[in-house]
Amino acid sequence: MKKKRTTERYTLADLENWREATRDVQPPIRLGVFGDPVAHSFSPQMQNAALRACKIEMQYARFHIRANELRSALHVLTQLDFVGVNLTVPHKIAALQFVDDVDESARCIGAVNTIKIDPPKDGFAGANHGKLRGFDTDGRGFSRAIREEFSVDLRDMRVLVLGAGGAGRAIAVQCAKENCERLVVANRTFEKAKQLVDGLRDFFAGPKVFGPVPRLQAIPWEEAAIRFQIGHVDLIVNATPRGLSRADASPVPARLLAPHVMIYDTVYSSSRTPFVLAAIEAGARGANGLSMLLHQGALAFEIWFQREAPIDAMRAALA
Ligand code: NAP
Repeated sequence: MKKKRTTERYTLADLENWREATRDVQPPIRLGVFGDPVAHSFSPQMQNAALRACKIEMQYARFHIRANELRSALHVLTQLDFVGVNLTVPHKIAALQFVDDVDESARCIGAVNTIKIDPPKDGFAGANHGKLRGFDTDGRGFSRAIREEFSVDLRDMRVLVLGAGGAGRAIAVQCAKENCERLVVANRTFEKAKQLVDGLRDFFAGPKVFGPVPRLQAIPWEEAAIRFQIGHVDLIVNATPRGLSRADASPVPARLLAPHVMIYDTVYSSSRTPFVLAAIEAGARGANGLSMLLHQGALAFEIWFQREAPIDAMRAALA
């Protein structure tokens, strides 16, 4: 019996035995997302809607790939006729070392969230392998999301980013490239925030001066430091997994927030995340990461297919 469509979870063992594992699957799976955990990802429903809207006969699936399996999983992909994959936690930074080349944004960010597989010139026969090309669409996706949610451009904002992993780096680099007014990075491991900020100094070397506080700063993830910054920022971005579980506390408690700040939680959910709930409690505007997911996904689709993404169909699939 032919399975009409599937976004069920596959593993490295399935990839290693791909033809057998997907013998009955139609249309074929030629795209997906690698992550651990990956069950929560909304990318399959969004990208499958895009594929259907464009009448592209293929499917996008979830792959539960652990950190120590990434190299092997990507290697197997180069022997299969996949178009590409997205990467989510915990693979974005590690992937940089496993791809054949990276574009400017991925190099600058130091992370990869989208891979395109260039097929071998003579087809996949024999020992021919495809080439893995790495991109990062999180930063540009974030920028589009902020404009959509708050009708403000990053260049006009003072931004506090919580987190210095793949998403935090992408967001901080995008803020720097768009010459935001101020950028502050807080991270649980302070050293990583400091390293990220140090790598962005050249972007902030210009004459733009902004009051008594530094334009670019790393701060420890401590209540007093965050409390001080609230009066000097317009936008606070959660780029950590805090909130993925509904039982999580907000990364910044409502009592520290103020009505003038905008809250963007990269964690996405069909309901309000703990950070968005805290924003509402404080009388501030808040949005969760669905809009960033949409725009980074649309940019990935455009990398894979070199055509405009059907953004309305993708948005509807997330609604
Ligand atoms: P990552 O590379 O693993 O980085 C995780 C970051 O979160 C690190 O800075 C880490 O700090 C920090 N962190 C982890 N657990 C924490 C905790 N309990 N309290 C405080 N900080 C914590 O992951 P990532 O790729 O950046 O993804 C982070 C989150 O961003 C994901 O969970 C996802 O929800 C979201 N995201 C959303 C979109 C979207 O399209 N909406 C796109 C990308 C990512 P240390 O350095 O101290 O470990």
